[in-house]
Amino acid sequence: MTGLVIVGHGTRSAAGVEQFAALVERVRGRGDIGDVEGGFIELSRPPLTDAVGALVASGHRALVALPLVLTGAGHGKGDIPAAMAREQQRHTGLSYRYGRPLGPHPLLHEALEQRIDAALTGADRAGTELTGADRADTELPGADRAGTWVALIGRGSTDPDANAEVAKVARLLWEGRGYAGVEPGFISLAQPSVPAVLERLRRLGAHRIVVAPYFLFAGVLPDRIVAQSAEFAAAHPHLDVRVAEVIGDCDALADLVLERYAEALGGDIRMNCDTCAYRVLMPGFADKVGRPQRPHDHPDDPVGHHHHGHDHHGHHDHGSVAVVGGGPGPDDLITVRAKALLDAADVVVVDRLAPQGLLAGLRPDVLVVDAAKVPRGPSMAQEAINEALVSHARAGRRVVRLKGGDPYVFGRGHEEVQACVAAGVPVTVVPGVSSALAAPALAGVPVTHRGVAHDVTVVSGHLPPGHPDSLVDWAALARARGTVVLLMAVDTIGKIASVLIEHGRAPETPVLAVQDAGLPDQRSVPARLDEIGAVAAREGVGPPAVFVLGPVVALTTTGPTA
Ligand code: SAH
Repeated sequence: MTGLVIVGHGTRSAAGVEQFAALVERVRGRGDIGDVEGGFIELSRPPLTDAVGALVASGHRALVALPLVLTGAGHGKGDIPAAMAREQQRHTGLSYRYGRPLGPHPLLHEALEQRIDAALTGADRAGTELTGADRADTELPGADRAGTWVALIGRGSTDPDANAEVAKVARLLWEGRGYAGVEPGFISLAQPSVPAVLERLRRLGAHRIVVAPYFLFAGVLPDRIVAQSAEFAAAHPHLDVRVAEVIGDCDALADLVLERYAEALGGDIRMNCDTCAYRVLMPGFADKVGRPQRPHDHPDDPVGHHHHGHDHHGHHDHGSVAVVGGGPGPDDLITVRAKALLDAADVVVVDRLAPQGLLAGLRPDVLVVDAAKVPRGPSMAQEAINEALVSHARAGRRVVRLKGGDPYVFGRGHEEVQACVAAGVPVTVVPGVSSALAAPALAGVPVTHRGVAHDVTVVSGHLPPGHPDSLVDWAALARARGTVVLLMAVDTIGKIASVLIEHGRAPETPVLAVQDAGLPDQRSVPARLDEIGAVAAREGVGPPAVFVLGPVVALTTTGPTA
């Protein structure tokens, strides 16, 4: 199961570090996720690198990284992804899915409500220590809430969107809960400040105010909220000012972490891009628009040209085409030769299953052509691609045709080579790591094994058995004893399995479906041959996936790459 690394910013407060560790322990104790580690990007121990290192050491190559932040500000948008990028450099092949910030979320609002009520039922004044937990269940007379104003105090950010999230939480906390009002404020970097929001509430006629820190854990800033509230209370002795506890380590927070984890694995993770200052010009924040967040992103860096002794404006004397295998999907299962050609390319014609991550590293002047979108009808698509390759090369450009896996394994690579040869365009082919062999390997299945299987057959499942155009001898495959790897068989696996059984393969032959091999979403679905059709459908196995069947599947390890 995909490991979880919970990433905190770090704090100088020992109590805050303890609460973080307790939460990590609580999430781990739930047992829903195999491996859970927590680490900080600065200030506190353990550092993120230890947490990631521990997960890698126990065999994880794909992780969920969850920023333990309430709002999407600099830490969540920039610092933590940058720290994770460094971890990816340290651990070759490491991939991760990045979770959303925690808030706004009803679980958090309920926790805040409990902290506020706990502060209300206590007689404590600002600055005194509250132990809210045991008072949380006490029934509150509605009148108490009706006479209570809440100042919800966020961390504060130079990112207006993050500050707006706090304002949103203030509103959501107020809706339907019967407080006189909930006003947002900030302890650093943003306005209104704690004294300003308290003064605003005083002028509105408040007599009792609960200051609720919108903070996960103890820390320097929550302490500062207590101090500033106490100072305000001292200056206004007629006011009843109380400070609620931070959210802290609790079951609701663990529930939310697990929810964000599941969402990172299976969901459509999007922060609020519509009002993100890095994307949209917000008044006063023009400097943020388009600012790179990844330390290795240098889109405007002209020295990107330095490793080639030529220019990139299409003035080569001799254009060429390289038909290149990109491997099964991750950025680093491409060959060194292919990567070198890619780095020198002027035009890259790319397939959907090719490693998309590599495109981000191309120079800004490289023309990227999405082969799936080459105009013309579907039957003409291959011809149109061939033409594009030839015409760019004739214009003197270095063309890389980037394909998934190996270009000659169900990749139509040779059709493109033939087209170039026919047109008199210099062409080379660079073999790649085919998903046919890589997907089983990445899922812990050896396609051959001494004493178990001495043959492996790679088969296209594109045409079902019995199709008039099919060239596959399914009966012979059924009689053979070795390994069969099926590509493009998501829609046909049930039919293929029946035909194999009909012609002599044992119904209990183990099969493993491997989806999204090498990618963060990689998953394996096992079944017997007679059940694989139904199981794959029920489990929603979708492309790209390979099915590997035969006695080797019984050897599946859940080792380092599983
Ligand atoms: N030339 C490619 C295969 C192209 S056919 C290669 O050598 O890998 C497309 C099929 O490849 C898909 O239907 C699927 O069966 C398989 N495939 C490609 N990438 C995959 C991946 N990352 N995980 C699982 N299967 C993959």
